[in-house]
Amino acid sequence: MPIEIKVPSLGESVTTATVGKWLKQPGDAVKADEPIVELETDKVSVEVPAPADGRLESHAVAEGDEVDVGAVLATLEKGAAGNAASAKPAPAKSAAKSDAKSAEAPKQAPKAAAPAADAPTQTDYDVIVIGAGPGGYVGAIRAAQLGFKVACVEKRATLGGTCLNVGCIPSKALLQSSENFHAAGHDFAAHGVVIDSVKLDLAKMQARKADIVGANVKGVEYLFKKNGITWLKGHGKVEGTGRITVDGKPVTAKHIIVASGSDSANLPGIEIDEKVIVTSTGALELSSVPKRLVVIGGGVIGLELGSVWSRLGADVTVVEFLDRLVPGTDNEVATQFQKLLVKQGFKMKLGHKVTKAEKTKSGVVLTVEPSAGGQAETLEADVVLVAVGRTAASKNMGLEEAGIELDKRGRIVVDAHYATNVPGIYAIGDVIAGPMLAHKAEEEGVALAELLAGQAGHVNYDAIPGVIYTWPEVASVGFTEEQLKEKGTEYKIGKFPFMANGRARALGMTDGFVKVLACKKTDRVLGVHIIGPCAGELIAEATMAIEFGASAEDIGRVCHAHPTLSEAVKEAALGADGRSLNI
Ligand SMILES: Cc1cc2nc3c(=O)[nH]c(=O)nc-3n(C[C@H](O)[C@H](O)[C@H](O)COP(=O)(O)OP(=O)(O)OC[C@H]3O[C@@H](n4cnc5c(N)ncnc54)[C@H](O)[C@@H]3O)c2cc1C
Repeated sequence: MPIEIKVPSLGESVTTATVGKWLKQPGDAVKADEPIVELETDKVSVEVPAPADGRLESHAVAEGDEVDVGAVLATLEKGAAGNAASAKPAPAKSAAKSDAKSAEAPKQAPKAAAPAADAPTQTDYDVIVIGAGPGGYVGAIRAAQLGFKVACVEKRATLGGTCLNVGCIPSKALLQSSENFHAAGHDFAAHGVVIDSVKLDLAKMQARKADIVGANVKGVEYLFKKNGITWLKGHGKVEGTGRITVDGKPVTAKHIIVASGSDSANLPGIEIDEKVIVTSTGALELSSVPKRLVVIGGGVIGLELGSVWSRLGADVTVVEFLDRLVPGTDNEVATQFQKLLVKQGFKMKLGHKVTKAEKTKSGVVLTVEPSAGGQAETLEADVVLVAVGRTAASKNMGLEEAGIELDKRGRIVVDAHYATNVPGIYAIGDVIAGPMLAHKAEEEGVALAELLAGQAGHVNYDAIPGVIYTWPEVASVGFTEEQLKEKGTEYKIGKFPFMANGRARALGMTDGFVKVLACKKTDRVLGVHIIGPCAGELIAEATMAIEFGASAEDIGRVCHAHPTLSEAVKEAALGADGRSLNI
């Protein structure tokens, strides 16, 4: 007699849910408590477990169906043998919800090979992490907190990876200094603060940045000592299950985590010298302000570093292949962002590609032509910044030789638990699929350490904020309008301009707006997009709302301090219901 598996009680006042992904198919063998289907409500996302061992007989509903609490989801033949081969691997208990964004997140399930015959029986460490960037060092700390004996291999002279050494931290230090310089020269007078002449001491600005980087990387060294983590200095190479070498010397561990990060991408035929034709690393180290800076690539890194040098006096031209900036960002925000950057003096050459870069005595001559084909032209620059993205750092570390599967873009293929196809070897951060962001890498490091300890580590890929630290800042979390249209989700919009926010007026920073996208049916917050002052801080509230499955009304009912910029978030949330108060 088959048992009916029904929609469980989902909490007070929740009466319906939407059927998410089926994790088990008819005919599959299931074990008691094994998740069989995902259910979504406007508050929570849950997995429904099998009530007993047996064979799943049939699905009573389809993915996307709306179901009432108590409705039959599936039938199970208790104790019957099922088809083990067709069983899909169950994801982590609270693994990422499935959607367009998660499609970018690690989800492929490579077939695990049998453990290698020569896998070590006794190991030097429980966990070895290769790479001490935010993914690797944070994962190492969490693993140590959970009681593992941990080592971290890093070939750089300092810990902290791209982020602390040549990425997030130095770029934000220069963005702050250059913003201060620009404000002193252009904005202070409006406050009645008169400075006769503002002078730039670039050497001091760069020294300050170096000090900040130094303090941060030393901080990670301290954290390693505090948590008993061994830093194995040198180049790590994977040899197989349980085995790596560091500069040729063998070391063993039960679990190996590859967190080797990413490197700047380049264009064919362009020779980077990090002096005149630079990547982001060289652009952080310029010892004089270039008169003319051409940035190839209108993405986050190009616009942030372009902003630094523009504020310090460079004439900046952005050449972008697409006909818009920052692809993936909500269109309305990107359009406003472009207008504001142009107002600041940026020149935009959108829909163009660079086909040649020739160094001359005085700089570089770039050949540029329309992306769709057409008349070529030349652009002269003193410095060219190539900011066309980053590629996974997966070469020269024995991955292919060890049989580890890589995708077409050189990223390590992992399943929902960050496992590669070789037993005992895992990967996280920029070297796997998903947004190349420090906090995404960190979350994965923590989740993996917890999974290795038998806990329910998870990353919600729907709630990973992205921030562009320009002026104004741009920050977003969740879906854009374009993504919701593509998914066919009906949504409503609440928008509130900073011009109508008292604190923004007092600060003299009224450019931009907050835009809240909420589900038309349930009011659940689906995406928040902010362009304006401190957007990078304001987005935390929106991320929390999405993580907790809040409705726009929930945000609108929370008391926000006055006068603060965060009131603009509340007002935009109220606006989703047509009831903003101050506009
Ligand atoms: C200019 C710039 C600005 C950025 N700004 C931001 C920002 O504001 N916010 C944000 O979220 N992200 C930002 N990023 C992206 C961020 O830096 C990365 O997403 C993040 O560092 C990825 O972390 P990770 O741990 O995966 O790898 P990484 O930080 O790249 O670290 C990998 C480490 O592994 C080491 N390694 C690699 N191979 C080996 C080997 N075989 N043996 C030993 N060691 C090895 C490398 O030396 C490196 O130290 C920025 C990046 C750049 C370039």
